[in-house]
Formats: sequence, C-alpha cells, structure tokens
Amino acid sequence: MKSIGHWINGQHVSTDGRDQDVFNPALGEVIRRVQLADRKTVEDAISAAQQAFESWKRTPPSKRARVMFQFKQLVEINQDKLARLIGEEHGKTVSDAKGEIQRGLENIEYACGVADALKGEYSKNVGPDIDSWSDFQPLGVVAGITPFNFPVMVPMWMFPLAIACGNTFVLKPSERDPSSTLFLADLLSQSGLPEGVFNIVNGDKEAVDTLLEDKRVKAVSFVGSTAIAESIYRKASDNGKRCQALGGAKNHAIVMPDADLDSTVNQLLGAAFGSAGERCMALSVVVAIGDKTADALIDRLKTEMAKLKVGSCLDSENDFGPLVTKQHQDKVCNYIASAQLQGAEIVVDGRDIAVPGYESGYFVGGTLIDKVTSEMTSYQEEIFGPVLQVMRVDSMQQAMQLINDHEYGNGTCIFTRDGEAARYFADNIEVGMVGINVPLPVPVSYHSFGGWKRSLFGDLSAYGPDGVRFYTRRKTVTQRWFSAGVREGTQFAFPS
Ligand code: NAD
Repeated sequence: MKSIGHWINGQHVSTDGRDQDVFNPALGEVIRRVQLADRKTVEDAISAAQQAFESWKRTPPSKRARVMFQFKQLVEINQDKLARLIGEEHGKTVSDAKGEIQRGLENIEYACGVADALKGEYSKNVGPDIDSWSDFQPLGVVAGITPFNFPVMVPMWMFPLAIACGNTFVLKPSERDPSSTLFLADLLSQSGLPEGVFNIVNGDKEAVDTLLEDKRVKAVSFVGSTAIAESIYRKASDNGKRCQALGGAKNHAIVMPDADLDSTVNQLLGAAFGSAGERCMALSVVVAIGDKTADALIDRLKTEMAKLKVGSCLDSENDFGPLVTKQHQDKVCNYIASAQLQGAEIVVDGRDIAVPGYESGYFVGGTLIDKVTSEMTSYQEEIFGPVLQVMRVDSMQQAMQLINDHEYGNGTCIFTRDGEAARYFADNIEVGMVGINVPLPVPVSYHSFGGWKRSLFGDLSAYGPDGVRFYTRRKTVTQRWFSAGVREGTQFAFPS
C-alpha cells in the first residue's frame, strides 16, 4: 500500500515512525497510509526553510511572482488529476473539487501581483529635507496548518502569498486527505521554486506542537475547528509568534416573507448540502420570518430534497458525496438524533440512506429539521454535515438577535426583495462575511476572508490585502542627507 511522506528541501522524504490510514470515504476502505512526522522531521523542514530564506527574501518580488505565474499554469494543466485526488480521499464530487481548485487559483493570481502590493508608502518632506517611507518586509519562516475540507484551496489561501511576499513556508496539511496537497509541492518545484522555500510535513499534534514551539517559525496561519484554533492561537502568541487562527461556524440565512421562494430554495440547497455540508461557509440554519414563510419553505425544500443525488465523487450526476470518516458520519447522525430528542421535527431524515455499490461508504443523506430552538445542542454546535435546520421567529429583529447571540460569526445571508431591510441587516449583523441574496458570501481573492467572534482568533483575516499585512512587517525609514559639498563642488568645465 502506498505510504505518503513529506516534502522537505525540494525532495520527497520518508520516515519510519508513526503512520495512519487514509480512507476512500465512498468505499469505506483504506487506500493509503500517511506518515506522521516526528519532532526531528519537522525541525529538518524548518531548517531547510530557514536556510532558503536568506536568498529568497532578496529575490526581487517580480521574479518571485514569475514562479507563481508558472505554478498557476501547472495547476490549471493538472486540475483533473488534482480534483480526482481530492475526491478520492475527501469524498466531494470531482466538479466540486474543481470549484475548490478554481478558488485556489484566484489566490495564486493575487500573489502574481505581489510587486504592486509590496510597493510601500512614501512621503516627501515630512520635515525640512526629510523624507520617509514604509517598507513591507518578509517575516522569515512561516507555517500553515490546514483542515481536511479544502485540501487544496485552504493551503492556497496561505502559501502563494506568503512565498510571493518573500517568506519561506512549512505546511502541515490535514492527515485525512494528504495526497492532493502533496502533489502541489511537485508542481511548485516544476515551477522553478528554489529548494527549501516550500516544505510539507504530514502529521498530527506532535508536528503542530513543534511548529508552535520552534523559535525560527515567525508566524502561524491555522484553519480548522474552533477548539483547536483557540488553543493554537494562545500557544503561538505565548511563544511570541504572529498568528491568525480561523475556526468553526454556524451560518444562518434569514428568509423574509417577501423573498422569492423558488430562487431561495435553489440557493439554500446548494449552500446547505454542497460538499455534504463540510464547508465552513455552509448554510446550516434557516431562520424563517413567520409560520407562513416557514411552512412554504419546508414544503418546497422537501420536494426538491427528494431529487438530491448522493454517491461517489466520480459520478458527475451526484450532488454530493460521503462524509470524510466513519467517526464524522456517526457524529452527524448523533446531532440529528439529539435534535429529535430535544423536541425538533425531522422532516427529511438522511441517516438511513443506501447508496448502491457503496454500502460501506460514510454517507448521510440531505436532512431537514424543523422547529429547532436555540437551546438545542444541534443548534449551538457546528454539525459540519448535510443537515439544514429551520427556526421560526416572528420578526427580522428576533432573527438578527439569534445570529448576534451565537458564538460563531463566520458567514450569514438574508433573502429579501427589500433593499432597506438588507441594508439594515448588513450594517448591524455581527458576522464577518455577509450575503444579500447570495448564500455563500466567500470573499474573492482581492478582498480578505475572515469571520467574527469565535470563528477567527487574531487581528487579520486570511489572504488578499490582510494576507499581505499578515505575511510582512512594516519598516518605516526616515531619511535626511546633509550636504557634503560634493554637488556644489562639482566641476563641469574641462580642467585646464
Ligand atoms: P481540525 O481542527 O480537526 O484539524 C485542523 C488541523 O489541525 C489539521 O491539520 C489537524 O491535523 C490539526 N489538529 C487536529 N487536532 C490537533 C491538536 N490536538 N493539536 C494540534 N493540531 C491539531 O479540523 P478539520 O476537521 O480538519 O476541519 C473542519 C473544521 O475546520 C470545521 O470546524 C470547519 O468549520 C473549520 N474550517 C474553518 C474554515 C474557516 O475559514 N473559518 C475553513 C475551513 C474549515
């Protein structure tokens, strides 16, 4: 069976220590093993990155960007292979995996414009004959720790920009679906990236702790669940590192009585069930204003959900695939059971779905739960599965209060035809990314991505302009030159 190792100093590296299974979740079978890096392996990767930093930071930004242009082309050429690798280990459909790659490509494109982003700021005559400028310098070795649900896109939120800014990088991807991420290292190498600038260590807590403790690592970007995000943020900060740690979510959609229900239902289906709900921006709660809106919505959702197709990533007809592991499948089913126990109404139950030919796969079908209240565990916690919960309230104000009271503040949206209501919502909702008749308001690469409250620890969001700030530090130079008399004494006449 293939054993997946690491990428250090421009080479595939294998280690003998601990390893673990990698599954094909549609089949419920082990298809590979992944090696779990020990402290020494991670330190080797940091040493390689530290050594590469000295010349990489002096490489002109336009030359660093040229590597990114090459990399972008190679990702495009290889996107079928990448999408299949994602689908095989994560379970999402190949077409959804291509969507993930596309969003990643947009982050590479942004990194291609790094020379402009690093131009700095200049003020002439801040005092008599004094000029001042600010420079944005790379930090050194920076680390990324990424989740299973976007094995290509989330790393691409980080390393293209970090590297283009002149840093060197050590990535610790998710151990659950490592193959597509590791393939990116090969593509970067073919793009002409010098050895040691980008490194991958596969692993678990031991690898992460090493990255957090090693003094040579100057900054850490983390994306994953909130409990881990918070502990990583604290540990990195205690160790003097810059850190941004993006966590979990509970994304609500308000459906107003005036919303166009047909188009709202269409959008809700994709946003709730795409990628089996394993997206940090997935819509998992609908707050319907008034029973009439709720009843009409439930009716339409029920009809449309009967058409959802669930199965293997390879069948382009499928709407979504399995959950990533058996443990996660059980966890999602337990949340559905808990909602029922606590008094909610299961309208469509995906727990006993049968997928012919994939009987051992970790599937949960689309699930719709009505009459959910804020005391229920399934409401308070992130489910991260194909489960859409409906809450009923009397007014938009009550709906907004629910959202503002929730511990997470990643994404939200409102469906309405009323511009004033939408404007009020956007101004007053305590969530970082807001959609108006847009169900998945993921910012494009030249904005930045980040939630509020316990969905993001740190001051700066991921990628885009915040990403440039995160991966650089400002240096401000104030300069005055006194006359040394050279200019005045210059002779232009031919000496005689
Ligand atoms: P996770 O927190 O289990 O794992 C994320 C990373 O942390 C992985 O690389 C993992 O190996 C590592 N890790 C796990 N346990 C650790 C420990 N005890 N100490 C140190 N490192 C540890 O998350 P996941 O299950 O891979 O991903 C799903 C979660 O990620 C969801 O909560 C989802 O909302 C969140 N997510 C958030 C965003 C965002 O932008 N806010 C984006 C994608 C995913």
